Amino acid sequence: MSKSELSQSSSNAAPSLIERRRRAMGPVYATFYDVPLHLVRGKGVWLEGADGRRYLDAYNNVPSVGHCHPRVVAALAAQAGRLNTHTRYLTEPVIELAEKLLGTLPDHLEHAMFTCSGSESNDLALRIAMEASGGRGVVITRFAYHGNSLATVELSPAERGVRLPDHHRAVDAPDTFTNAGQGARTFARSVAEAFADMAAQGTRPAALLIDSAFSSDGIYFPPREAVQGAVDAARAAGAVVIADEVQSGFGRLGDAMWGFEVHGFRPDIVTLGKPMGAGHPVGAVVVTPEIVAPFTARFGYFNTFGGNPVSAAAAIAVLDAIADEGLLDNARDAGGHMLSLLSEVARQHAAIVNIRSRGLYTGVELAGDERRGGADVARRVVNEMCRRGVLISLCGPNANVLKIRPPLPFSRSNAEQLAQTLAATLSSLQH
Ligand code: PMP
Repeated sequence: MSKSELSQSSSNAAPSLIERRRRAMGPVYATFYDVPLHLVRGKGVWLEGADGRRYLDAYNNVPSVGHCHPRVVAALAAQAGRLNTHTRYLTEPVIELAEKLLGTLPDHLEHAMFTCSGSESNDLALRIAMEASGGRGVVITRFAYHGNSLATVELSPAERGVRLPDHHRAVDAPDTFTNAGQGARTFARSVAEAFADMAAQGTRPAALLIDSAFSSDGIYFPPREAVQGAVDAARAAGAVVIADEVQSGFGRLGDAMWGFEVHGFRPDIVTLGKPMGAGHPVGAVVVTPEIVAPFTARFGYFNTFGGNPVSAAAAIAVLDAIADEGLLDNARDAGGHMLSLLSEVARQHAAIVNIRSRGLYTGVELAGDERRGGADVARRVVNEMCRRGVLISLCGPNANVLKIRPPLPFSRSNAEQLAQTLAATLSSLQH
């Protein structure tokens, strides 16, 4: 289907809005989908377009507990009407949030520091790791994304135009599919070699920084020993282990609240963002007292908006909603159901070559021809699914992995709609 056909059949965006945006905000911003979506409202797992159409949101982890969750909205409004200030004053909500958050994490992670985004969380974690290790070199995965700040964008080769600085190293992600999972088997060794090479070139190791779901690398859940081996190699090299939970945290993987728990390793620092405020900008760094001590000895930490009581109220409401509404169990149950339905679709459609899934985080890899790596097919699938009212996106170095990551209240029947729409889409694209 050509782009113009797609626009005729599904455009809901007022052209003037696209034009105004481009004029006022410049050409640097991208939009999802060939025909950008103009959204006006959200509720639970549903988004409503300006044209009145309803879309099933199977992509967004930011509205973790659902779009415009009443509890989050009420908490935000109540605190915004009462007091908003910063951490230079004593306020109850941020302390309650720190305590609640620590209650969901292993005991060795004793201190929470607050930020406004995942980028800021990783940036702060890197500063802490550099003080603790005395090093500067960081090992990441080959197609990682860790943020947009100066320090984190350099560690985000998934981002167009980014070149990894010479003192850092990138290793292949623990790919459980390509070459019969060779990448997962060699992951620990690659990390050990990267740190050894870095040291041999005169850079002291600072950190191993990994996204616990290897999201932009294509979504992988390797065997526990692969990740544990990499963690051991980092520690042996004197590096601090940072678990980037911006994607995998807050119950997404169903089996545990945090992705590193699913892998069974013990991070020194955990970084949080996206889902934490269900759309409100709030992030955190959670760290052991020993690791943060050298940083504290040298610097203070103040972040004007990080830890403000309104953001804290939103984040408390998110933690409460996850617990009270059984969203971890739902991620496991609805996610398991979705996996079995998608596996059935894969049996009918040779285009699907591998499915990787934990809870409500699923990568569906599409076969690619040698030249284009499947990206073209995947892009058409994503656009056609949108036209049919279901929102997903893509990831992976070849952009051939369908990325399915809905808000946590996604139900079994939502999963059925998603699987049916994917099957119909794949059938339609064969013609
Ligand atoms: N880490 C990971 C794994 C991410 O996916 C992202 C955002 N896509 C970030 C960090 C940066 O978060 P933010 O956009 O909130 O700065």
